[in-house]
Amino acid sequence: MKLTGTQWIGSRESADSNDTFRAVDPGRGSELEPSFREATESEINDAVSAAVGAFDAFRMSSAYARADFLETIADETIALGDEFLDRTSAETGHPLPRCAAERDRAVFHTRQFAETIREGSWVDARIDTADPNRQPMPKPDVRSLLQPVGPVAIFGASNFPIAISVLGADTVSAFAAGCPVIVKAHPAHPGTCEMAARAILKAAEKSRMPDGIFSLVHGRSIEVGTHLVQHPGIEAAAFTGSLAGGRALFNVAAARPRPIPFYAEMGSVNPVFLLPGALAERTEQIAVGFAAALTQGVGQFCTNPGLVLGFGSEAWDRFSKTAAEKVEDFAPATMLHAGIHAAYSNGIQHRLDDESLELLGTSSVEPNADRSEAAAYLFGTTQQGLLNDPTLLDELFGPVSTLAKCDDRAGMIAIAEKLEGSLSATIHGTEEDLAEYSDLVAVLQKKTGRLIFNGYPVGLEVCHSIHHGGPYPAATHSHFTSVGTRAIQRFVRPVCYQDWPDKLLPAELQNINPRGVMRLVNGARTTESV
Ligand code: NAP
Repeated sequence: MKLTGTQWIGSRESADSNDTFRAVDPGRGSELEPSFREATESEINDAVSAAVGAFDAFRMSSAYARADFLETIADETIALGDEFLDRTSAETGHPLPRCAAERDRAVFHTRQFAETIREGSWVDARIDTADPNRQPMPKPDVRSLLQPVGPVAIFGASNFPIAISVLGADTVSAFAAGCPVIVKAHPAHPGTCEMAARAILKAAEKSRMPDGIFSLVHGRSIEVGTHLVQHPGIEAAAFTGSLAGGRALFNVAAARPRPIPFYAEMGSVNPVFLLPGALAERTEQIAVGFAAALTQGVGQFCTNPGLVLGFGSEAWDRFSKTAAEKVEDFAPATMLHAGIHAAYSNGIQHRLDDESLELLGTSSVEPNADRSEAAAYLFGTTQQGLLNDPTLLDELFGPVSTLAKCDDRAGMIAIAEKLEGSLSATIHGTEEDLAEYSDLVAVLQKKTGRLIFNGYPVGLEVCHSIHHGGPYPAATHSHFTSVGTRAIQRFVRPVCYQDWPDKLLPAELQNINPRGVMRLVNGARTTESV
């Protein structure tokens, strides 16, 4: 595919600006062809106008038609072939198997949303039938369901150029709901974004979806994203990326004359607690698993385990030693882009300069800065050291973690209480440990979106029950997830119909239940007609 480097306003290419940038191959430090144009304000306005114009037809399309559209997106994504994976690898430094795995995840979640909307119960249809004889007042017929909000702006993160970018669950869940989407391409992987966008546009054309339900705009300046979020035609926005970026755009969304929901999924320290029974039983095994999770993907996961807590003991010392040895074995590898590499290097320097931290281990091979390579690092601190330095509770994006040796249970709980909201928290323990430390579990339930027992936080299962979010700063709305089928709930709102004529109701609310969806009728779950 010959990349154009233009904006895609629906199916129309637009090339108004001469302000351009190129993607960089982080492993080589060389620029990649072609140049990509910064979107102008009028191009962004055009994209939003197209989305607003397409919304009514799109929201009225049947769930089956949208499901077919999603399946066609999945097919067109596969049809992009190896060229797509090669471009992604060149733009991100991700090895090809990782790119293929991400592509497969995107295809999987796209088909999963197709199945979800075909089945249909996700609309949460509720019916309370009328009772004209109720005293002292007659009871009206009240029915409600979830309906799409309108055009959505989407920002993906650099570390998931396929599965959390143009083809991410954000885009796909918005389509599933019936919302047009405008993606602000990540400037670190614009070619990957264009290829994915063209797969979506091809699928839209094949599926006869209204033009304007999808646009892609490029920009390496923050103005493009800011203007998009400020546009009055945008009804919601979803973001995955850094706390700084997410918070800045959240503030923009909140400052609009008519604020909109801004769903940001951001970074997280993902604490791991090692309880005594498990640590004594599986010391080396836990250390090996932890080091593998820490260094996987050069540590560039929002779920990276950035902090480990346990009690001082002979087993803890063995755990630390084994984990440090594994970290030393990690061969430095290229990070996503020079900016992320610079932020990591600065953060590491800050930790090396911190006298309260002990360097327990680092990659035995020197990283090559010209190739944006990162070495892995493992630091050690004490309970008091951690309580004295709250920056250790912040995410440092990359293959680095801190082991904190706690003096006692009260100290561990005090640290847990100090944690900010996190995407995940992990406990290694026996079942007896878990029962014994129920107070720790109670604290962690307030701090995190996902509790993991005897596992590792990286490697997220894409399923109906997953929750990938958490209290701020893990996310801006702790109720919502960006992964899994519940992600659709960000782009819908309940609409209630009172005493509405049956045949004019949305299908899922009509008496005969023509779609056969599960509904809550007078308080009872049923697929029966009313
Ligand atoms: P990023 O720098 O925040 O960029 C994400 C997107 O937001 C880019 O398109 C970026 O465009 C835009 N952006 C950033 N700051 C902005 C601002 N002030 N105004 C307008 N637009 C702005 O994030 P990243 O470095 O690509 O990704 C790494 C981070 O994402 C890590 O912290 C990681 O933990 C997090 N992450 C979270 C999850 C999750 O599910 N919670 C998943 C993956 C990654 P520009 O570059 O043009 O500014």
